[in-house]
Amino acid sequence: MVNECVRIGIQQKKTSMKSLSLVTYPYLKVQYGNLISPYYRLCANSRATGILSTYRKSIRKGKQVKVPHCSRRFLSTCYKIRIHQGNLLLPQGVIIRLNDYVLKKVAHNRVRSVTLSVDCVSIVYSIEMNEMKTECSGVLGADFNCENITYVDALDNIKRLPMDDVANYKIQCRKTKSHFKRNDVRIGTEIFGKYGKLQADKTMSEIHKHTARMVRHAKKYHLAIAIEDKLDRMQGSLYRKGNSQGRDFRFKLNSWARGEAKRQLEYKGKREGVLVFTVNPRGTSAKCSKCGNRMIPEENRMLYCTSCGLRIDRDSNAAINIRNRGLEKLFSMRFKPVGLSIEAMKGNPMKKLTTEVILRADGSQVDHPNG
Ligand SMILES: [Zn+2]
Repeated sequence: MVNECVRIGIQQKKTSMKSLSLVTYPYLKVQYGNLISPYYRLCANSRATGILSTYRKSIRKGKQVKVPHCSRRFLSTCYKIRIHQGNLLLPQGVIIRLNDYVLKKVAHNRVRSVTLSVDCVSIVYSIEMNEMKTECSGVLGADFNCENITYVDALDNIKRLPMDDVANYKIQCRKTKSHFKRNDVRIGTEIFGKYGKLQADKTMSEIHKHTARMVRHAKKYHLAIAIEDKLDRMQGSLYRKGNSQGRDFRFKLNSWARGEAKRQLEYKGKREGVLVFTVNPRGTSAKCSKCGNRMIPEENRMLYCTSCGLRIDRDSNAAINIRNRGLEKLFSMRFKPVGLSIEAMKGNPMKKLTTEVILRADGSQVDHPNG
């Protein structure tokens, strides 16, 4: 059905899902009316719209493109989904036995859509969101690096979540893959796919564990979470060939799933009502978290400050710096006089006091982080 929709879409030059549906529905009804349940038509159209939009984009860019088609076998629907006695029931008599974990997850939530592919079932369900708390008692700063995730809360409790297992595992997988010398694309794809999946599973499970823990901690103590800006775009520019870094070092740092960590923190924060925001990371790893001077690196990832004598581990130092920047940003955001909010502040002398003090002391730094 998807391929029929794509064909019709190209022939009749339909771009939007609505206009495509108007012409394909009658056709699909005649062609597949007795074969396939009508509840699957919408998703077929939706997929075809996606394929057509990618196709048009490629043409616009001037690429040479073949006539597109959908080769992946799948079945997708958002209608008539029921869960009954531990089974997932789909239109046209598809029955899938669900395990206890999945049943528990979807028990009190509404299932919105289900996609079946050759080897997996994806269930999309909606969940009740906690209200985003704008009031918080402090900021939790988190520093991501390839060895660990370090976070520090408002009471200076530093927690380190190790990530070196993942990094080492990736290096090992890379070594194993490098032994593959046969000139056979088919077997190569299979082997590389297998190790890719192993790596991804391991990384994802670790990051899930850590981000969940951070969000739990932040929720418990009513904190907002501050992370580095451009975490996901950092890769590529920083560790590139020719930067006089070793191959293994570059691999280790480039394979760190920063973007994924950020994505998970953001959606988990949203779900739990914890504010997650970014700060400019410039200088956070080199400057002293106590006095702001440049620090001298020592052995074992330690840093030493010559002006105040602070000796601290570099990850903790970065986390504290990020937290402090987060605090500045949060207060400048909250008390920034926008429109009528100045009037609202007049009634509260305490708030006014805080506004002035913080804007003068830190507002300039937030706007001009380099200066
Ligand atoms: Zn210092």
